[in-house]
Amino acid sequence: MDMKETNPVKELKEKLFISSKPGFQELTAEEVAKADEFCEGYKQFLDYSRTERDAVKYSIEIAEAEGFTEFVPDKVYQPGDRVYVNNRNKALMLAVIGKKGVSEGVNLSIAHIDSPRIDLKPNPLYEANGLALFKTHYYGGIRKYQWLAMPLALHGVVAKTDGTVVDIRFGDDESEPCLCITDLLPHLAQEQAEKPLRKAFNGEDLNVIVGSRPYDAEDEGELVKLNVLSILNKKYGITENDFLSAELCLVPTYKTRDVGFDGGLMGGYGHDDKCCAYPALMAAVDTKIPERTAITVLCDKEETGSDGNTGMQSDYLRYFIYDLAKAEGVDGWRAISKSRCLSADVNAAFDPTYASCFEAKNSSFAGEGVVISKYTGHGGKGGTSDASAEFMGEIRTMLEENNILWQVGELGRVDLGGGGTIAKYVANMNVDVVDLGVPVLSMHAPFELISKIDIYMAYRAFYALFQG
Ligand code: MN
Ligand code: MN
Repeated sequence: MDMKETNPVKELKEKLFISSKPGFQELTAEEVAKADEFCEGYKQFLDYSRTERDAVKYSIEIAEAEGFTEFVPDKVYQPGDRVYVNNRNKALMLAVIGKKGVSEGVNLSIAHIDSPRIDLKPNPLYEANGLALFKTHYYGGIRKYQWLAMPLALHGVVAKTDGTVVDIRFGDDESEPCLCITDLLPHLAQEQAEKPLRKAFNGEDLNVIVGSRPYDAEDEGELVKLNVLSILNKKYGITENDFLSAELCLVPTYKTRDVGFDGGLMGGYGHDDKCCAYPALMAAVDTKIPERTAITVLCDKEETGSDGNTGMQSDYLRYFIYDLAKAEGVDGWRAISKSRCLSADVNAAFDPTYASCFEAKNSSFAGEGVVISKYTGHGGKGGTSDASAEFMGEIRTMLEENNILWQVGELGRVDLGGGGTIAKYVANMNVDVVDLGVPVLSMHAPFELISKIDIYMAYRAFYALFQG
Protein backbone atom coordinates (compact mmCIF):
# COMPACT_ATOMS: atom_id res chain seq x y z
CA MET A 1 0.00 0.00 0.00
CA ASP A 2 1.21 3.50 -0.88
CA MET A 3 2.34 5.21 2.33
CA LYS A 4 1.54 8.67 0.93
CA GLU A 5 -2.09 9.27 1.71
CA THR A 6 -4.01 11.34 -0.76
CA ASN A 7 -6.79 13.58 0.42
CA PRO A 8 -8.77 14.79 -2.60
CA VAL A 9 -10.91 17.20 -0.55
CA LYS A 10 -7.82 18.83 0.90
CA GLU A 11 -6.29 19.13 -2.55
CA LEU A 12 -9.44 20.66 -3.96
CA LYS A 13 -9.58 23.16 -1.13
CA GLU A 14 -5.98 24.15 -1.79
CA LYS A 15 -6.83 24.69 -5.43
CA LEU A 16 -10.06 26.61 -4.98
CA PHE A 17 -10.02 28.43 -1.63
CA ILE A 18 -8.40 31.84 -1.21
CA SER A 19 -4.70 31.15 -0.80
CA SER A 20 -3.26 31.76 2.62
CA LYS A 21 -1.16 34.86 2.27
CA PRO A 22 2.55 34.70 2.97
CA GLY A 23 3.08 36.36 6.34
CA PHE A 24 5.94 37.66 8.46
CA GLN A 25 7.27 34.10 8.80
CA GLU A 26 8.02 33.99 5.09
CA LEU A 27 10.18 37.11 5.21
CA THR A 28 13.92 36.57 5.30
CA ALA A 29 15.94 38.07 8.15
CA GLU A 30 17.54 40.29 5.52
CA GLU A 31 14.17 41.70 4.45
CA VAL A 32 13.16 42.37 8.05
CA ALA A 33 16.48 44.15 8.60
CA LYS A 34 15.85 46.26 5.47
CA ALA A 35 12.42 47.21 6.79
CA ASP A 36 13.89 48.21 10.14
CA GLU A 37 16.55 50.30 8.41
CA PHE A 38 13.97 51.99 6.19
CA CYS A 39 12.05 52.97 9.32
CA GLU A 40 15.02 54.80 10.82
CA GLY A 41 14.85 57.30 7.93
CA TYR A 42 11.10 57.48 8.36
CA LYS A 43 11.36 58.31 12.05
CA GLN A 44 13.51 61.36 11.24
CA PHE A 45 11.06 62.43 8.54
CA LEU A 46 8.07 62.05 10.84
CA ASP A 47 9.68 63.74 13.84
CA TYR A 48 10.33 66.80 11.71
CA SER A 49 7.20 66.73 9.54
CA ARG A 50 4.42 67.65 11.94
CA THR A 51 2.54 69.82 9.46
CA GLU A 52 2.30 69.83 5.67
CA ARG A 53 4.67 72.79 5.56
CA ASP A 54 7.24 70.87 7.61
CA ALA A 55 6.84 67.85 5.33
CA VAL A 56 7.31 69.90 2.15
CA LYS A 57 10.45 71.51 3.53
CA TYR A 58 11.97 68.20 4.60
CA SER A 59 10.98 66.45 1.36
CA ILE A 60 12.54 69.16 -0.82
CA GLU A 61 15.77 68.79 1.16
CA ILE A 62 15.80 65.04 0.46
CA ALA A 63 14.81 65.55 -3.18
CA GLU A 64 17.44 68.20 -3.90
CA ALA A 65 20.14 66.05 -2.33
CA GLU A 66 19.02 63.31 -4.75
CA GLY A 67 19.26 65.48 -7.87
CA PHE A 68 15.72 66.88 -8.19
CA THR A 69 15.53 70.48 -9.41
CA GLU A 70 12.65 72.91 -9.61
CA PHE A 71 10.47 72.27 -12.67
CA VAL A 72 10.72 74.80 -15.51
CA PRO A 73 7.61 74.87 -17.74
CA ASP A 74 8.28 74.56 -21.50
CA LYS A 75 11.72 73.06 -20.89
CA VAL A 76 12.20 69.73 -22.68
CA TYR A 77 13.34 67.12 -20.21
CA GLN A 78 15.22 63.90 -20.92
CA PRO A 79 14.52 60.43 -19.53
CA GLY A 80 15.90 60.19 -16.02
CA ASP A 81 15.61 63.94 -15.35
CA ARG A 82 14.22 64.68 -11.90
CA VAL A 83 12.02 67.68 -11.17
CA TYR A 84 9.76 68.99 -8.45
CA VAL A 85 6.99 71.56 -8.12
CA ASN A 86 6.45 73.25 -4.77
CA ASN A 87 2.80 74.31 -4.44
CA ARG A 88 2.68 77.15 -1.89
CA ASN A 89 4.99 75.33 0.53
CA LYS A 90 2.09 73.02 1.41
CA ALA A 91 2.03 70.45 -1.37
CA LEU A 92 4.77 68.98 -3.50
CA MET A 93 4.98 67.10 -6.78
CA LEU A 94 8.08 65.15 -7.85
CA ALA A 95 8.59 63.61 -11.26
CA VAL A 96 11.19 61.29 -12.73
CA ILE A 97 10.92 61.60 -16.49
CA GLY A 98 10.40 58.26 -18.22
CA LYS A 99 11.78 56.87 -21.49
CA LYS A 100 8.30 57.12 -22.99
CA GLY A 101 7.58 60.40 -21.23
CA VAL A 102 3.86 60.89 -20.69
CA SER A 103 2.73 59.57 -24.09
CA GLU A 104 1.41 56.34 -22.56
CA GLY A 105 0.27 57.95 -19.34
CA VAL A 106 2.12 58.49 -16.09
CA ASN A 107 2.42 56.38 -12.96
CA LEU A 108 1.20 58.27 -9.91
CA SER A 109 1.63 57.78 -6.17
CA ILE A 110 -0.33 60.36 -4.19
CA ALA A 111 -0.19 60.67 -0.41
CA HIS A 112 -1.31 63.46 1.88
CA ILE A 113 0.97 65.23 4.32
CA ASP A 114 -1.59 67.03 6.47
CA SER A 115 -2.71 65.34 9.69
CA PRO A 116 -5.46 66.06 12.23
CA ARG A 117 -4.37 68.75 14.68
CA ILE A 118 -5.54 71.93 16.38
CA ASP A 119 -5.19 75.28 14.59
CA LEU A 120 -5.20 78.73 16.18
CA LYS A 121 -8.12 81.02 15.39
CA PRO A 122 -7.23 84.22 13.48
CA ASN A 123 -7.61 86.26 16.67
CA PRO A 124 -6.46 83.76 19.28
CA LEU A 125 -4.93 85.49 22.29
CA TYR A 126 -6.81 86.47 25.45
CA GLU A 127 -6.32 86.69 29.17
CA ALA A 128 -8.63 85.20 31.79
CA ASN A 129 -8.19 84.85 35.54
CA GLY A 130 -4.46 85.36 35.48
CA LEU A 131 -3.77 83.04 32.56
CA ALA A 132 -3.08 83.83 28.89
CA LEU A 133 -4.74 81.50 26.40
CA PHE A 134 -5.19 80.89 22.67
CA LYS A 135 -8.57 80.15 21.10
CA THR A 136 -8.39 77.28 18.63
CA HIS A 137 -10.31 75.60 15.84
CA TYR A 138 -9.48 71.96 15.32
CA TYR A 139 -8.39 70.65 11.90
CA GLY A 140 -9.67 67.29 10.65
CA GLY A 141 -11.31 64.44 12.49
CA ILE A 142 -10.03 64.49 16.05
CA ARG A 143 -11.43 62.89 19.17
CA LYS A 144 -11.19 66.04 21.26
CA TYR A 145 -10.50 64.39 24.62
CA GLN A 146 -7.26 62.87 23.24
CA TRP A 147 -5.67 66.32 22.96
CA LEU A 148 -6.12 67.47 26.55
CA ALA A 149 -3.49 67.50 29.28
CA MET A 150 -0.52 66.70 27.05
CA PRO A 151 2.46 68.72 25.83
CA LEU A 152 1.86 70.53 22.53
CA ALA A 153 4.16 72.40 20.17
CA LEU A 154 3.25 75.30 17.88
CA HIS A 155 4.27 75.07 14.21
CA GLY A 156 3.52 77.40 11.35
CA VAL A 157 4.07 80.77 9.77
CA VAL A 158 3.12 84.38 10.39
CA ALA A 159 2.91 86.68 7.37
CA LYS A 160 3.67 90.29 8.32
CA THR A 161 2.53 93.36 6.42
CA ASP A 162 6.14 94.19 5.46
CA GLY A 163 6.08 91.09 3.27
CA THR A 164 8.21 88.89 5.50
CA VAL A 165 7.01 85.49 6.62
CA VAL A 166 8.18 84.32 10.02
CA ASP A 167 8.62 80.59 10.65
CA ILE A 168 7.47 79.44 14.06
CA ARG A 169 8.45 76.11 15.53
CA PHE A 170 8.08 76.27 19.29
CA GLY A 171 7.86 73.61 21.97
CA ASP A 172 9.39 70.49 20.42
CA ASP A 173 12.67 70.78 22.22
CA GLU A 174 12.59 69.76 25.87
CA SER A 175 14.89 72.68 26.64
CA GLU A 176 12.08 75.14 25.83
CA PRO A 177 8.54 75.37 27.24
CA CYS A 178 5.59 73.69 25.55
CA LEU A 179 1.87 74.58 25.42
CA CYS A 180 -1.06 72.66 26.87
CA ILE A 181 -4.86 72.38 26.79
CA THR A 182 -6.31 71.67 30.22
CA ASP A 183 -8.75 68.91 31.16
CA LEU A 184 -11.36 68.87 33.91
CA LEU A 185 -10.39 67.06 37.10
CA PRO A 186 -12.42 63.86 37.71
CA HIS A 187 -13.54 65.22 41.07
CA LEU A 188 -15.64 67.86 39.29
CA ALA A 189 -16.55 65.90 36.17
CA GLN A 190 -19.81 64.27 37.29
CA GLU A 191 -22.02 66.37 35.03
CA GLN A 192 -19.65 66.00 32.10
CA ALA A 193 -19.37 62.23 32.64
CA GLU A 194 -23.10 61.81 32.17
CA LYS A 195 -23.10 63.43 28.73
CA PRO A 196 -22.67 61.44 25.52
CA LEU A 197 -19.09 61.66 24.28
CA ARG A 198 -20.04 63.92 21.37
CA LYS A 199 -21.41 66.51 23.79
CA ALA A 200 -18.91 66.12 26.62
CA PHE A 201 -16.10 67.91 24.81
CA ASN A 202 -16.76 71.15 22.95
CA GLY A 203 -14.62 72.70 20.25
CA GLU A 204 -14.80 76.06 22.01
CA ASP A 205 -13.25 74.51 25.11
CA LEU A 206 -10.02 73.56 23.35
CA ASN A 207 -8.24 76.62 24.73
CA VAL A 208 -4.51 76.34 25.11
CA ILE A 209 -2.55 77.85 27.97
CA VAL A 210 0.28 80.05 26.73
CA GLY A 211 1.26 82.14 29.76
CA SER A 212 0.89 82.71 33.47
CA ARG A 213 3.29 85.49 34.51
CA PRO A 214 2.35 89.19 34.30
CA TYR A 215 4.44 91.81 32.56
CA ASP A 216 6.45 93.73 35.15
CA ALA A 217 4.23 96.81 35.61
CA GLU A 218 1.51 98.09 37.94
CA ASP A 219 -2.12 99.20 37.66
CA GLU A 220 -2.72 98.01 34.13
CA GLY A 221 -4.99 95.21 32.93
CA GLU A 222 -4.10 92.18 30.76
CA LEU A 223 -0.50 92.06 31.93
CA VAL A 224 -0.16 88.29 31.39
CA LYS A 225 -1.29 88.71 27.80
CA LEU A 226 1.07 91.67 27.44
CA ASN A 227 3.93 89.55 28.74
CA VAL A 228 3.22 86.80 26.20
CA LEU A 229 3.11 89.34 23.36
CA SER A 230 6.29 90.94 24.58
CA ILE A 231 8.05 87.54 24.50
CA LEU A 232 6.66 86.77 21.03
CA ASN A 233 7.69 90.21 19.81
CA LYS A 234 11.26 89.72 21.02
CA LYS A 235 11.48 86.18 19.65
CA TYR A 236 9.66 86.56 16.32
CA GLY A 237 9.14 90.30 15.78
CA ILE A 238 5.35 89.93 15.67
CA THR A 239 2.45 91.84 17.25
CA GLU A 240 -1.11 90.74 18.03
CA ASN A 241 -2.30 92.04 14.62
CA ASP A 242 0.05 89.61 12.87
CA PHE A 243 -1.99 86.62 14.09
CA LEU A 244 -4.61 87.79 11.58
CA SER A 245 -2.41 86.57 8.74
CA ALA A 246 -0.93 83.41 10.19
CA GLU A 247 -1.23 79.64 10.01
CA LEU A 248 -0.32 78.24 13.38
CA CYS A 249 -0.93 74.64 14.34
CA LEU A 250 -0.77 72.84 17.66
CA VAL A 251 0.82 69.43 17.29
CA PRO A 252 2.00 66.76 19.74
CA THR A 253 5.62 66.89 20.85
CA TYR A 254 5.95 63.09 20.97
CA LYS A 255 8.92 61.63 19.17
CA THR A 256 8.34 58.51 17.09
CA ARG A 257 9.05 55.44 19.22
CA ASP A 258 9.26 51.70 18.70
CA VAL A 259 6.32 49.95 20.32
CA GLY A 260 6.09 46.48 21.89
CA PHE A 261 8.84 44.46 23.54
CA ASP A 262 9.87 43.29 20.07
CA GLY A 263 9.81 46.83 18.62
CA GLY A 264 7.81 45.65 15.62
CA LEU A 265 5.48 48.63 15.64
CA MET A 266 6.14 52.36 15.59
CA GLY A 267 4.08 54.87 17.53
CA GLY A 268 4.04 58.46 16.41
CA TYR A 269 2.02 61.52 15.50
CA GLY A 270 0.85 61.86 11.90
CA HIS A 271 1.44 58.35 10.50
CA ASP A 272 -1.79 59.16 8.61
CA ASP A 273 -0.57 59.85 6.06
CA LYS A 274 3.15 60.43 6.35
CA CYS A 275 3.65 56.66 6.55
CA CYS A 276 2.59 56.61 2.89
CA ALA A 277 4.13 59.97 1.95
CA TYR A 278 7.64 58.95 2.99
CA PRO A 279 7.61 55.61 1.10
CA ALA A 280 6.17 57.39 -1.97
CA LEU A 281 8.91 60.02 -1.73
CA MET A 282 11.64 57.38 -1.36
CA ALA A 283 10.20 55.41 -4.29
CA ALA A 284 10.57 58.55 -6.43
CA VAL A 285 14.10 59.10 -5.17
CA ASP A 286 15.11 55.48 -5.92
CA THR A 287 13.55 55.42 -9.41
CA LYS A 288 16.28 56.04 -11.99
CA ILE A 289 15.02 55.92 -15.61
CA PRO A 290 11.48 54.52 -15.66
CA GLU A 291 9.53 53.60 -18.80
CA ARG A 292 6.67 55.98 -18.04
CA THR A 293 7.14 59.23 -16.17
CA ALA A 294 6.75 58.60 -12.44
CA ILE A 295 5.04 61.28 -10.37
CA THR A 296 4.77 61.42 -6.60
CA VAL A 297 2.33 63.95 -5.16
CA LEU A 298 2.41 64.93 -1.51
CA CYS A 299 -0.85 66.79 -1.10
CA ASP A 300 -2.51 68.88 1.56
CA LYS A 301 -6.05 69.26 2.96
CA GLU A 302 -7.07 65.59 2.73
CA GLU A 303 -8.19 65.64 6.35
CA THR A 304 -10.67 68.43 5.65
CA GLY A 305 -12.04 67.14 2.33
CA SER A 306 -9.28 67.99 -0.18
CA ASP A 307 -10.71 71.46 -0.86
CA GLY A 308 -8.48 74.46 -1.49
CA ASN A 309 -5.63 75.12 -3.89
CA THR A 310 -3.24 72.70 -2.17
CA GLY A 311 -5.81 69.87 -1.89
CA MET A 312 -6.45 67.22 -4.53
CA GLN A 313 -9.63 68.90 -5.72
CA SER A 314 -7.36 71.64 -7.07
CA ASP A 315 -6.04 71.49 -10.65
CA TYR A 316 -2.33 71.65 -9.88
CA LEU A 317 -1.61 68.01 -10.76
CA ARG A 318 -3.65 68.31 -13.95
CA TYR A 319 -1.71 71.44 -14.96
CA PHE A 320 1.61 69.76 -14.19
CA ILE A 321 0.82 66.78 -16.43
CA TYR A 322 -0.42 69.19 -19.11
CA ASP A 323 2.89 71.06 -18.89
CA LEU A 324 4.90 67.83 -19.20
CA ALA A 325 2.71 66.71 -22.11
CA LYS A 326 2.96 70.04 -23.93
CA ALA A 327 6.76 69.92 -23.85
CA GLU A 328 6.55 66.45 -25.44
CA GLY A 329 3.93 67.47 -28.02
CA VAL A 330 1.29 65.21 -26.45
CA ASP A 331 -2.29 66.21 -25.62
CA GLY A 332 -2.49 66.61 -21.84
CA TRP A 333 -5.85 64.93 -21.52
CA ARG A 334 -4.58 61.88 -23.40
CA ALA A 335 -1.67 61.55 -20.98
CA ILE A 336 -4.04 61.82 -18.02
CA SER A 337 -6.56 59.33 -19.42
CA LYS A 338 -3.88 56.65 -19.83
CA SER A 339 -2.43 57.21 -16.36
CA ARG A 340 -2.68 54.96 -13.33
CA CYS A 341 -2.45 55.87 -9.70
CA LEU A 342 -1.94 54.41 -6.28
CA SER A 343 -3.81 56.63 -3.87
CA ALA A 344 -1.36 56.17 -1.03
CA ASP A 345 -3.41 56.38 2.12
CA VAL A 346 -3.80 54.45 5.34
CA ASN A 347 -6.63 52.16 6.35
CA ALA A 348 -7.85 51.08 9.79
CA ALA A 349 -5.98 48.06 11.12
CA PHE A 350 -8.13 45.42 12.82
CA ASP A 351 -8.05 46.14 16.55
CA PRO A 352 -8.82 43.07 18.72
CA THR A 353 -9.98 45.38 21.51
CA TYR A 354 -12.68 46.84 19.24
CA ALA A 355 -13.26 43.70 17.18
CA SER A 356 -16.99 44.29 16.85
CA CYS A 357 -16.33 47.42 14.77
CA PHE A 358 -14.63 45.34 12.07
CA GLU A 359 -15.51 42.49 9.76
CA ALA A 360 -12.45 40.28 10.05
CA LYS A 361 -12.61 38.64 6.61
CA ASN A 362 -12.31 42.03 4.94
CA SER A 363 -10.14 43.93 7.40
CA SER A 364 -6.46 44.71 7.22
CA PHE A 365 -4.11 43.64 9.99
CA ALA A 366 -0.99 45.44 11.22
CA GLY A 367 2.08 43.50 10.12
CA GLU A 368 0.45 41.64 7.24
CA GLY A 369 1.56 44.00 4.50
CA VAL A 370 0.20 46.91 2.50
CA VAL A 371 -3.55 47.13 2.37
CA ILE A 372 -5.49 47.66 -0.86
CA SER A 373 -8.87 49.28 -0.36
CA LYS A 374 -10.98 48.76 -3.47
CA TYR A 375 -13.37 51.40 -2.19
CA THR A 376 -13.90 53.53 0.92
CA GLY A 377 -16.95 55.77 1.49
CA HIS A 378 -19.92 55.17 3.74
CA GLY A 379 -23.53 53.98 3.68
CA GLY A 380 -23.60 51.79 0.55
CA LYS A 381 -20.32 52.93 -1.02
CA GLY A 382 -21.37 56.57 -0.91
CA GLY A 383 -18.72 59.11 -1.89
CA THR A 384 -16.01 56.81 -3.16
CA SER A 385 -14.16 55.72 -6.25
CA ASP A 386 -14.70 51.98 -6.55
CA ALA A 387 -11.63 50.64 -8.36
CA SER A 388 -12.41 48.43 -11.33
CA ALA A 389 -11.85 44.68 -11.20
CA GLU A 390 -9.40 45.09 -14.08
CA PHE A 391 -7.26 47.64 -12.25
CA MET A 392 -7.41 45.60 -9.03
CA GLY A 393 -6.20 42.67 -11.10
CA GLU A 394 -3.33 44.67 -12.56
CA ILE A 395 -2.15 45.87 -9.15
CA ARG A 396 -2.62 42.43 -7.58
CA THR A 397 -0.45 40.92 -10.29
CA MET A 398 2.20 43.59 -9.77
CA LEU A 399 2.32 42.94 -6.02
CA GLU A 400 2.50 39.17 -6.43
CA GLU A 401 5.18 39.32 -9.11
CA ASN A 402 7.29 41.47 -6.81
CA ASN A 403 6.72 39.32 -3.70
CA ILE A 404 5.21 42.25 -1.82
CA LEU A 405 3.24 41.36 1.31
CA TRP A 406 -0.29 42.67 0.78
CA GLN A 407 -3.87 42.28 1.92
CA VAL A 408 -7.28 43.78 1.19
CA GLY A 409 -9.16 45.87 3.71
CA GLU A 410 -12.44 47.67 4.14
CA LEU A 411 -12.70 50.56 6.56
CA GLY A 412 -14.60 48.75 9.32
CA ARG A 413 -18.01 47.14 9.44
CA VAL A 414 -20.68 48.08 6.87
CA ASP A 415 -22.97 50.90 8.05
CA LEU A 416 -20.83 51.73 11.09
CA GLY A 417 -19.30 54.93 9.75
CA GLY A 418 -16.77 55.37 7.01
CA GLY A 419 -14.34 57.74 5.44
CA GLY A 420 -12.76 58.75 2.19
CA THR A 421 -9.45 59.39 0.51
CA ILE A 422 -8.19 61.42 -2.43
CA ALA A 423 -8.80 58.45 -4.77
CA LYS A 424 -12.14 59.79 -5.99
CA TYR A 425 -10.69 63.13 -7.05
CA VAL A 426 -7.99 61.39 -9.09
CA ALA A 427 -10.55 58.99 -10.54
CA ASN A 428 -12.66 61.99 -11.58
CA MET A 429 -9.75 63.07 -13.81
CA ASN A 430 -10.32 59.79 -15.72
CA VAL A 431 -7.37 57.97 -14.14
CA ASP A 432 -7.33 54.34 -12.96
CA VAL A 433 -6.80 54.53 -9.22
CA VAL A 434 -6.96 52.37 -6.13
CA ASP A 435 -6.08 53.04 -2.49
CA LEU A 436 -2.96 51.30 -1.27
CA GLY A 437 -1.34 52.07 2.06
CA VAL A 438 -0.46 51.09 5.57
CA PRO A 439 -2.89 49.74 8.21
CA VAL A 440 -3.00 51.99 11.28
CA LEU A 441 -4.08 51.33 14.88
CA SER A 442 -5.56 54.30 16.80
CA MET A 443 -5.91 56.25 13.55
CA HIS A 444 -6.16 60.04 14.06
CA ALA A 445 -5.00 59.78 17.68
CA PRO A 446 -2.03 61.95 18.65
CA PHE A 447 -0.03 58.69 18.89
CA GLU A 448 -0.89 56.26 16.10
CA LEU A 449 0.63 52.80 15.59
CA ILE A 450 1.86 51.15 12.41
CA SER A 451 3.96 48.08 11.61
CA LYS A 452 7.50 48.49 10.29
CA ILE A 453 6.91 45.69 7.80
CA ASP A 454 3.85 47.38 6.33
CA ILE A 455 5.50 50.75 5.68
CA TYR A 456 8.43 49.01 4.02
CA MET A 457 6.03 47.02 1.83
CA ALA A 458 4.32 50.30 0.91
CA TYR A 459 7.67 51.61 -0.29
CA ARG A 460 8.21 48.46 -2.36
CA ALA A 461 4.73 48.77 -3.87
CA PHE A 462 5.21 52.40 -4.96
CA TYR A 463 8.62 51.52 -6.31
CA ALA A 464 7.19 48.58 -8.27
CA LEU A 465 4.47 50.83 -9.75
CA PHE A 466 7.10 53.28 -10.97
CA GLN A 467 9.02 50.52 -12.75
CA GLY A 468 5.95 49.46 -14.74
MN1 MN B 1 -5.33 59.59 5.37
MN1 MN C 1 -7.00 60.73 8.06
